[in-house]
Amino acid sequence: MVKFFTSSIAGMAMAVAAVYAQTTAPAPPTTSPGVTYPPVNAVPPIDSPEVVAWLKEIDLTGAPTIPLHTGDPPVCPNPPIVDECYWTCDGCSADDITACGRPNTWGLTFDDGPSTDTPVLLDYLKAQKLAATFFLIGSNVIQFPDLVKREIAEGHHLASHTWSHHALTTLSNEQIVAEMKWTEKAIMDATGLRMKYMRPPYGDINNRVRFVLKKLGYIPVDWTGDAFDTNDWQLPTMTEETVLATFTASLDAYAASNKSQGFYCLEHDLNNLTVGIAQKLIPLGQARNITIAPVPVCQNDNQPYQLGGTAVIPTLSAAPTVAPTSAPSSTVTKGAAPTGSIKSGAEKRYIEKGAMVLAAAVAVVAALA
Ligand SMILES: [Zn+2]
Repeated sequence: MVKFFTSSIAGMAMAVAAVYAQTTAPAPPTTSPGVTYPPVNAVPPIDSPEVVAWLKEIDLTGAPTIPLHTGDPPVCPNPPIVDECYWTCDGCSADDITACGRPNTWGLTFDDGPSTDTPVLLDYLKAQKLAATFFLIGSNVIQFPDLVKREIAEGHHLASHTWSHHALTTLSNEQIVAEMKWTEKAIMDATGLRMKYMRPPYGDINNRVRFVLKKLGYIPVDWTGDAFDTNDWQLPTMTEETVLATFTASLDAYAASNKSQGFYCLEHDLNNLTVGIAQKLIPLGQARNITIAPVPVCQNDNQPYQLGGTAVIPTLSAAPTVAPTSAPSSTVTKGAAPTGSIKSGAEKRYIEKGAMVLAAAVAVVAALA
């Protein structure tokens, strides 16, 4: 996960960021019966009555005094900040979950949803009798609450991916609280469940962010390093053939290891491309007899939500956990060379962000149709 930024990449990133800023002006607040949510895709204000009340509930005294990172996405500090434990730049994960706790198991997770393409993925997972963990963006949850309800009804596990998908190390402690609590409320309003697990957008987490998350009762789940980033977010800039070949190489390396621990992949139910490739990536694991499971199964956690929700917490028995035995065979050319040269943190982050803008635009069009 060590990612450094070159000046040329930073320049390109700044240009893309400018476009992003223009295309993501805060939308008006979204209102549902009895609830006014903050504008979507923007960091919620910290002076609203709701956030003021949430801040009174927790004690942030003792939070590490690590300076906020700057840049969008942030640039790796040079020299590194002592004791920051910054996963993105240092590869330091502290006590974040970075691997599935079960042997020979693929911790199946999808980030950035729900989106208009999520139903296609849900149909596929249902047909395959598979359950996943969905790291939800609060701004999307309030636009597609029925999809969130469907995910629960079909045995999936829900977790948080913040309200607006900003890099958390660039936000104040209070802004992090606002991002997490508004998302918590949005999902609780839709399902009655209070989230317990979260994934930091871009994997951007350090000890200050961890401190605030723990105060809110959240457990960060990163992914098992670059080898298990499926690169689905790079489509179509990266070709489908390259995505499949790269991930095939990772799975082959895993299959040849002792497999004493499982792994978590980075995948997205963000658009038709990422949902499409998921249906080609999963069979690669099935063909290698790797069990596929959501986070609660990986972590052997039969209380995968925080107390305080209004719904009965689903138990593990509700979730199918094992890949079908009749797995389709892989059509990927084995031995194709992975292309590691484009795995720059800056490119990764901006492309993912661009895809989110596209997904948001699609969602708006769909909502207006
Ligand atoms: Zn994300």
